[in-house]
Amino acid sequence: MSDNGELKPIELPSSITVRELSEHLQASPIDVIKTLMANGVMANINQEIDFDTAAIIAAELGFDAQLEISEAESGKDISEIPLWRQWIAKETPKNLQPRPPVIGILGHVDHGKTTLLDAIREANVAEGEVGGITQHIGAYQVKHNDRFISFIDTPGHAAFTAMRARGAQGADIVVLVVAADDGVMPQTREAIAHAQAARVPIIVALNKIDRPNAVPDQVKQQLAEIGLVPDEWDGDTLVIPISAKEQKGLDDLLEAILLVADNTKIYANPNGEVFGTVIEASQERGRGAVATLLVQNGTLKTGDVVVTGQSHGRIKAMFDYQGVAIKKAPPSSPISVMGLDEIPAAGEIFKVVESTKVARTIVHDRQLQGEQSGAAKHAGMTLEQLFARVQSGEAQELRLIIKADVQGSLEPIISSLEEMQVEDIRVNILHADTGNVSENDVMLASSSDAIIIGFNVNPDPPARRLADTEKVSIRSYNIIYRLTEDIDKALRGLLAPEQKEVVLGRANVLAVFSASKIGKAAGCRVVEGTLYRNAFMRVMRGDEAVFEGEAASLKRHQEDVREVREGFECGIGMKGFNDFEDGDQVVCYKIEEVKVF
Ligand code: GDP
Repeated sequence: MSDNGELKPIELPSSITVRELSEHLQASPIDVIKTLMANGVMANINQEIDFDTAAIIAAELGFDAQLEISEAESGKDISEIPLWRQWIAKETPKNLQPRPPVIGILGHVDHGKTTLLDAIREANVAEGEVGGITQHIGAYQVKHNDRFISFIDTPGHAAFTAMRARGAQGADIVVLVVAADDGVMPQTREAIAHAQAARVPIIVALNKIDRPNAVPDQVKQQLAEIGLVPDEWDGDTLVIPISAKEQKGLDDLLEAILLVADNTKIYANPNGEVFGTVIEASQERGRGAVATLLVQNGTLKTGDVVVTGQSHGRIKAMFDYQGVAIKKAPPSSPISVMGLDEIPAAGEIFKVVESTKVARTIVHDRQLQGEQSGAAKHAGMTLEQLFARVQSGEAQELRLIIKADVQGSLEPIISSLEEMQVEDIRVNILHADTGNVSENDVMLASSSDAIIIGFNVNPDPPARRLADTEKVSIRSYNIIYRLTEDIDKALRGLLAPEQKEVVLGRANVLAVFSASKIGKAAGCRVVEGTLYRNAFMRVMRGDEAVFEGEAASLKRHQEDVREVREGFECGIGMKGFNDFEDGDQVVCYKIEEVKVF
């Protein structure tokens, strides 16, 4: 409890183990178990308890528990959650309001992403008021059942490669387009990896069902095999058959989106700090830098000063996705803005600050540090840094992307890596495929803090360059056991508790005498701490350790004792050591295991 007797606020998930709860409450698990018992709940340390129970225990231990906004936002691995979501998680829960879901459309090339985005827009967006032409600003909104849904609409854009990695992070839900006549392809798997890395739910749009060669059931089987088990087969992935070309099934898809949105807790504080993501940006003649922004929290207004990366400026004008000039943009609205001094990068986070002066200072600092904000700051890491994060408890898994020459080598690598788990830390293979290490692999690694393992393959030159700038680590192997050995060694190396010597006491040898049973013994005086019979002993002669081992006997006045404290005299015999000399010092110590976690 805080000093003034008030309960301290704390956020807890909908279900939590007793151990985790004790960590959250900084209490001993025993106290938590006792408090549970006092409330009539018998639980062991690994048992899950629900939020309501946890909240009662928390209150008794001085905390005011609030339900976490989202399971995925649990503070434990917050570093893997997109920055904007971490920021929203900091808002006071009572200020949060539902906002429209933001949808990213991903999928293999030619499976129909563009056609689907166009079809949804055509069917649902009223003609723009300005000149009757709908503006293409890289994002749009539709209304279904009187509710807004925002779509990120950038598949054809050059920035899309980057957006695929980061756009999945900007979205609340990913619609994965899979052609019913082509099935699961490499970019399908990649897209799934992106969505899963960003912890974004996936809805499958099973497209092109109008095609005579469509084999929807076969494709569902493939999806099930890679973990997206269709709803109709008792899985939890909604698979919606559609024809983007014939505009069939679109309403079902929108319906599914709203259903998933309702289960995903999509919130923001419209009156809070204003921030969001840059969708795309370009230099336009007569208008300067024009950027499409997605507001994710707060309400952006004309006149606000915005900083993004190393670009800043006062919003001079703001337009909605239909090109209509607006003055305010609430959460989840895609807008295009004028007023930035430079073109920001797609995927960057933007933020409103108090004044141009503050904006300039931030940009200046960023320039000095050579740092880039938001997504760009989210640079990749080396294996060592990754391990350090695991070690510090920041991450609970080692994320890997594996590329191999042939399927035949991929399988044994995956199965042996998947088996590796040391305590709670496991290897998480985000993506595994055949082929060289590509730019997309690097992008995925960068956005999800993974490292790339190449087996008998090399990175493509552009991938190598990108890996250099994004600081993504690529490790190459050509022998499987070397690869697994490295990962295993590293995992275990991390987990092996550090051993530390703790000196318990020191005694100076004053005389050496023969004792009947144990050979030579030393008459000593304890000059520091305490000597314990069961602890380790080291005999020092000057700076040199002449013996290391255990005591055979520890006596005071002929009587065996367990310990002798500072200032007292005693007789010590060592197991297997008979060479005491006057002037030796006996150091008594124990080995403490300093646990890494
Ligand atoms: P993207 O690369 O994923 O954006 O795919 P596109 O939207 O460009 O579509 C690739 C091709 O598939 C185009 O020729 C589309 O006309 C065609 N296509 C897209 N959706 C459908 C569909 O539902 N049915 C049929 N028959 N063709 C489609």
